[in-house]
Amino acid sequence: MGPAEELVRIAKKLDKLVARRSTEGALDLLKSLTGYTMTIQLLQATRIGVAVNSMRKHCEDEEVVASAKILIRNWKRLLGEQHWGDLGSPPGPSPPSPPWHPKHLVVSKGLEEGLAVAWPPWTKADSADSRSSSTSAASSPQKRPSEDSKAKPEAPQTPTSPTFSPGPCLLAPCYLTGDSVRDKCIEMLAAALRVDEDYKEFGVNCEKMASEIEDHILCGAGGSTDMKYRNRVRSRLSNLKDPKNPSLRRKVLSGAISPSLIARMSAEEMASEELKRLRSAMTQEAIREHQMAKTGGTVTDLFQCGKCKKKNCTYNQVQTRSADEPMTTFVLCNECGNRWKVC
Ligand SMILES: [Zn+2]
Repeated sequence: MGPAEELVRIAKKLDKLVARRSTEGALDLLKSLTGYTMTIQLLQATRIGVAVNSMRKHCEDEEVVASAKILIRNWKRLLGEQHWGDLGSPPGPSPPSPPWHPKHLVVSKGLEEGLAVAWPPWTKADSADSRSSSTSAASSPQKRPSEDSKAKPEAPQTPTSPTFSPGPCLLAPCYLTGDSVRDKCIEMLAAALRVDEDYKEFGVNCEKMASEIEDHILCGAGGSTDMKYRNRVRSRLSNLKDPKNPSLRRKVLSGAISPSLIARMSAEEMASEELKRLRSAMTQEAIREHQMAKTGGTVTDLFQCGKCKKKNCTYNQVQTRSADEPMTTFVLCNECGNRWKVC
């Protein structure tokens, strides 16, 4: 039996104990976990973090709780805090998650949109850019005034891209790569790191760090500045500048997230804790909807669909909270597929 199977087995045992509100053997299980070399892949694949965390939350045996806490703290230290969203709720006294409400979906959508910043102006001048760089690549990399002036009229002067002021590349000469696309990406990454002036506190040379991050992104994209490279840069920029997620930038600046790691992190991993919680709530909801779809439901004309205004719906009542609270009614419009919830 490999470590993954073993961990899944232990996680299941812990879940059973939690469900039965028993602590019998829990300590031994937790102690056996200290022997594993944990990786993020193992934690994700086996959900052992979730199991241990739920044992910590629900158990009243102090020794068991302490043991679970130590495990979680060690794993957390090992993996860096940014991964906790993948393991379920973060350790520590966290408030109980609020009952799901359709409003959350709207909020989350807004957040997602907030992450998508406009791709810098030079994408528009893409063909011109690549043409000129292919013809003038051999010439001095620092001398590109024509390109910059070309981009000037198109450049929207948004407050989020302060370095995109007209004029030559502001990047220090030692970080110039000879490729105008790369230089601009480094420049923008450096600007993203400089947001909020956290960098002063950490004494970070943002251009140097940006140059390292860009180098890793380029490697990850197979060495070319194609769409993959550009999307990577863009998503790093928006997440590093996200005012709702200052901890990501601070972790990068402090070195807790290395340049090579931030270069390859997924949107999920970079997301703020708030977004992670919302996503988790949405996942829970999707599971409930799936369960509802499986159990069928009752066709009724009692509900009117807000979208198509027809009264051909299927509803289903589910106990989503504790048993003494009222059931939640899930409604599905048979005409247009619209789904909503009635409390
Ligand atoms: Zn409808």
